[in-house]
Amino acid sequence: MQAGQCARFADRATCGTSSEFVAIPDSFISGGVPDADMVLFVASVPTDPDTNAWALACQTDKFGRPVAGIINFNLNNVDVSDQTWDRQLRTAVHETMHALGFSSNSFNKFIDRRTGKRYSADVPAQGQDIPGVTQSVTTRGHRVSYFVLPTAVAEARDHFNCPTLRGLEIEDGGSPSSAGSHLEKRVFYSDVMNPQAHTAPSYSRMALAVLHDSGWYDADFSKATVLKWGLRAGCPFAEDYCLAAGRVVAGGDKYFCPGPPSSGPKRRCTMDRYSVGQCGVYSWSKPLPAYYQYFPDTNKVTVALARACV
Ligand SMILES: [Zn+2]
Repeated sequence: MQAGQCARFADRATCGTSSEFVAIPDSFISGGVPDADMVLFVASVPTDPDTNAWALACQTDKFGRPVAGIINFNLNNVDVSDQTWDRQLRTAVHETMHALGFSSNSFNKFIDRRTGKRYSADVPAQGQDIPGVTQSVTTRGHRVSYFVLPTAVAEARDHFNCPTLRGLEIEDGGSPSSAGSHLEKRVFYSDVMNPQAHTAPSYSRMALAVLHDSGWYDADFSKATVLKWGLRAGCPFAEDYCLAAGRVVAGGDKYFCPGPPSSGPKRRCTMDRYSVGQCGVYSWSKPLPAYYQYFPDTNKVTVALARACV
């Protein structure tokens, strides 16, 4: 990168997907953008009606760091009322973090802060681990992937009070763009980088640590907020089935429903004790995989992304 210039955008004249994009001004291409570390295009191109927003990086520098990116908001789903401010802000921060590199497209470009070198020179095949960044193991009856980045793991071990925690579980549910690019909702339920918006989101040290461990940024951890979900809840909470043989996992009593409500919804306090919630159990169109079957009815589920529990 030249002093006073953003990286050139090569020959690329658009930023986005093949069908949803913005045009990059010619001046950005010919002259760069002075005094900018990154150019983030904020757009409202028509998109999938069920999507609130999406984001991606569209150009990187020679170190793999995104220098141009786009956030596209679906204006039909943007609610500007005061009551939804936290949720809307969370969406904007979430998408910005994707554009900054919290994305499966970027993980193989992460730089090990201890060596100054990339973790991997290769582009991994779909689902393949990136040594030092992600690791997959078979647990709870299926393949589960984790971030094993050093700062992020240290933060997660502290958060869950689990000194042996393998890593930060990566979301495996949802659309192809959701799986692999988020923290697992079951473990990081209200965190900014789980796949779904939450009314009371947290901006955890763990989410910041993933980008810190990219080697491209120094996270300001003083800006993080405490993730109440799973705080000091122990290893079983983070690693085991949320419900087994009709019993909630150790440390999980205030987070998980004990079973399907046999006589209507069971109302109870939410995990932060700020409101009243209920255990909603829904029918899936077909039996769930064996490792997600918590209830006698094999197609019953609560929150699909959260390993089918919560
Ligand atoms: Zn996302």
